[in-house]
Amino acid sequence: NREIHLAARPQGWPTEDTFRLATTDVPTPGPGQIVVRNTFMSVDPYMRGRMNDVASYVPPFALDAPLDGGAVGEVVASEADGFAVGDTVLHGLGWREYALLDASTVRTVDPALAPVSTYLGVLGMTGLTAYAGLLEVAAMQPGDTVFVSGAAGAVGSMVGQIAKLRGAGRVVGSAGSPAKVERLRALGFDAAFDYHDGPVLDSLRSAAPDGIDVYFDNVGGEHLEAAIGAMRQNGRAAICGMIAQYNAAEPPAAPRNLAMIISKRLTLRGFIVSDYGQLGEQFVQEVGGWLRDGKLSYDETIIDGIENAPAAFLGLLRGENLGKMLVRV
Ligand code: NDP
Repeated sequence: NREIHLAARPQGWPTEDTFRLATTDVPTPGPGQIVVRNTFMSVDPYMRGRMNDVASYVPPFALDAPLDGGAVGEVVASEADGFAVGDTVLHGLGWREYALLDASTVRTVDPALAPVSTYLGVLGMTGLTAYAGLLEVAAMQPGDTVFVSGAAGAVGSMVGQIAKLRGAGRVVGSAGSPAKVERLRALGFDAAFDYHDGPVLDSLRSAAPDGIDVYFDNVGGEHLEAAIGAMRQNGRAAICGMIAQYNAAEPPAAPRNLAMIISKRLTLRGFIVSDYGQLGEQFVQEVGGWLRDGKLSYDETIIDGIENAPAAFLGLLRGENLGKMLVRV
């Protein structure tokens, strides 16, 4: 069994030296346990925060121990009722080939219903983040003009498409390359821009000349400042992530125009997807339906081999992914 350990806590940007490939015995299950051979594992931006030794909404990774995170795989040994060899399951012990799990922490998924990788993306955590953040946290209404940053990523690409499907008036996305911008137009975004092309506020103003009602923030920093600047009265922002600062050694200054929150009566609301589990069923019904009907597209960037999981994670932080970044174990 090969697994990836945290070798050092990064200061600033992580590197290959942050990780170590280790080999252990394939585990055997005790009572109530199963062993899963992972087929796909997720790499996610929030894992960068867990590499720091600070308390947050998820505990930090331990040094010299395997990392963890979302994964799907096949049961290869079971000592638990309700789980048989060959079942496909979703669980939280990625970053390894074989996972030993208490059955109570595992959910069975149906590989006949959708490709198993989608339970880590469009039908999984990142899809629910987009759905809950846009519809509940930002309370998007039909006719709203919506702006989403990180728009070509796993969460952002869903936000833009869900906004259109739920009747947004205009949807604008920003991303980090011309190819990503082109992809956003193909996905049905009304306008898209590369944030390297100039000040974000200038690009946003040309893409949404009448301003925006909703901002879905995946990036923070200059994007958040621009969104506050472009917001109309009573605008709402779902603050989902601030990836532009995850590798910063020093926290950046806040948006300089925060006082506009007052005059424009804005609502900026942070959220964590795990608080929206109760939406899960409605989410799977609605998003699953759109997928079946061909109304929603999703991209995946798949890196092969557990030994390449660190490269996949580093690539995610550098923007090398289109849609969900995954490792095929
Ligand atoms: P993505 O698939 O969007 O991948 C990350 C993307 O971030 C990269 O592809 C890159 O795209 C972009 N990026 C990296 N650095 C910068 C930068 N300095 N400025 C602008 N863009 C940058 O990841 P996810 O969809 O999984 O996550 C998106 C966001 O949502 C993250 O901030 C994450 O932390 C957050 N999140 C929050 C959750 C919650 O519960 N609150 C749950 C899940 C995710 P590009 O080429 O465009 O730069």
